Amino acid sequence: MYRRVAIIGGGAAAAALLSELLERQPSQPLHLDWYTGGGTPARGVAYGTRSDKHLLNVRAASMSMFAGKPRGFLDFAQRGDHTIAGTDFLPRRLYGDYLEAEVKRALDHAASAGHDVRVLPFAVDSVVPENDGVTIIHGEESSRVDAAVLAIGSLPPQPLGGVSEAALASGRYVTEPWSFLASVKPDPRPRKVVLVGLGLTAVDVLLELSAQWPNAEFVAVSRHGLLPEPHMETASAPVDDGSELIESMRDAPDIRTWMRLLREAAAHSSDWRTVIDSLRPHTPLLWRLLPEPERARFLRHARWAWERVRHRMPPQVMASMQAMERAGKLHRRRGRLQGVEVAGDKLHLELRATHGEALHVMDADLVIQTVGLNTDVRRTSHRLIRQLATNGHVTPDPLGLGCRATTDGHLQHDGRAWPHFYAIGTLLRGTLWESTAMPEIRQQARQLADRIIGT
Ligand SMILES: Cc1cc2nc3c(=O)[nH]c(=O)nc-3n(C[C@H](O)[C@H](O)[C@H](O)COP(=O)(O)OP(=O)(O)OC[C@H]3O[C@@H](n4cnc5c(N)ncnc54)[C@H](O)[C@@H]3O)c2cc1C
Repeated sequence: MYRRVAIIGGGAAAAALLSELLERQPSQPLHLDWYTGGGTPARGVAYGTRSDKHLLNVRAASMSMFAGKPRGFLDFAQRGDHTIAGTDFLPRRLYGDYLEAEVKRALDHAASAGHDVRVLPFAVDSVVPENDGVTIIHGEESSRVDAAVLAIGSLPPQPLGGVSEAALASGRYVTEPWSFLASVKPDPRPRKVVLVGLGLTAVDVLLELSAQWPNAEFVAVSRHGLLPEPHMETASAPVDDGSELIESMRDAPDIRTWMRLLREAAAHSSDWRTVIDSLRPHTPLLWRLLPEPERARFLRHARWAWERVRHRMPPQVMASMQAMERAGKLHRRRGRLQGVEVAGDKLHLELRATHGEALHVMDADLVIQTVGLNTDVRRTSHRLIRQLATNGHVTPDPLGLGCRATTDGHLQHDGRAWPHFYAIGTLLRGTLWESTAMPEIRQQARQLADRIIGT
């Protein structure tokens, strides 16, 4: 008798969970259905890029997909090139190769271990969780499983307010940068491209488009007009375990105090990055302690600053951005997008500066929205999530950070946790805050595999 499990999602989180599950030797073999949606299974959005300009923003030594095998990715990379060091920032394409190789190994091993695995290249349309199992529906087919996991990553980006229907229909306003980049061809024509949002997504777009379109001029607009901070040239461990800082933060869970404590700790450290990094293992606990109005305050006032220092870019990527600025190809502007209209064969943008400055207007041949991950379950075009939210099977996080869930990944509805319906990764942001990168996802995958198999 099989234990029936469904994993919904085709990215790195699903790949990590699948590999963890198939590595175990459970008393009961698994019948595992892996619904991979579109794209190459295991790579997902982040590691589907074929561009070697797109680098991991985490050093190679920290990118294993297995919590129990920390050198996993580094060993894989060094088998191809022994000069690679653990401190290197390697291409995301190579990481995708690693994920695919690990998944293939797990699938090859599965049959000999008595598991029955189906890789189903479909998007799941709807899911009906119940107390004793979960029904999965795609097209005309439905199947009943003992446990199901949502590993769908972030939600499709939605156009920003103020973008007119005509601008969206013109093809000159890009809401989804990843599929756009995948279809870009070399083109020497001069053109003006405006990026709205200035985080790591914008940086990826700038790296790729400036190579494909050598005569393009880029303007990047964000609230503060600042690029993400760079990593240090060399890796360094936190000076201490940060326990004193964590203790003080736990004692006073409000954002203003936390910002003060962080500023003080940074001022006393040789590099502020070590302070930020020392918080990482404690973030879920700190986030849990933060009352909802304080979380909302963080999102309103401090999120942008946090994202800049926490999601850093490799030093060589920073050097490329600086070279673009020096060459006059990249201009950064502070401002908020107020509106985008079609004006002849261009788009006309209106920006409001953040500190009361006058409205600024500009024209562009192309506008690309690069505002980062969308996690707002309350307003989404994602079919499955809409179905789950509309039917009350999941409860949206009130601040737009995924779904309500327990810290161990059980999805909740009406304040109660489904016993056999889980999420992994970005959908858990409201519960854990830090839940989008591989170092967190691999831990979740291991714990979830234990829970599903019952060890
Ligand atoms: C550009 C980029 C760069 C990043 N770089 C790093 C990095 O260097 N290091 C790091 O640790 N993290 C990085 N991240 C964070 C990244 O989110 C995680 O590392 C990881 O890729 C998340 O994988 P995921 O499977 O949760 O999501 P995704 O990669 O988004 O995969 C979700 C998958 O689910 C599928 N899906 C959606 N709906 C359905 C459905 N109804 N049925 C079936 N399938 C469905 C989608 O098609 C997709 O394939 C990066 C993220 C991005 C976007």
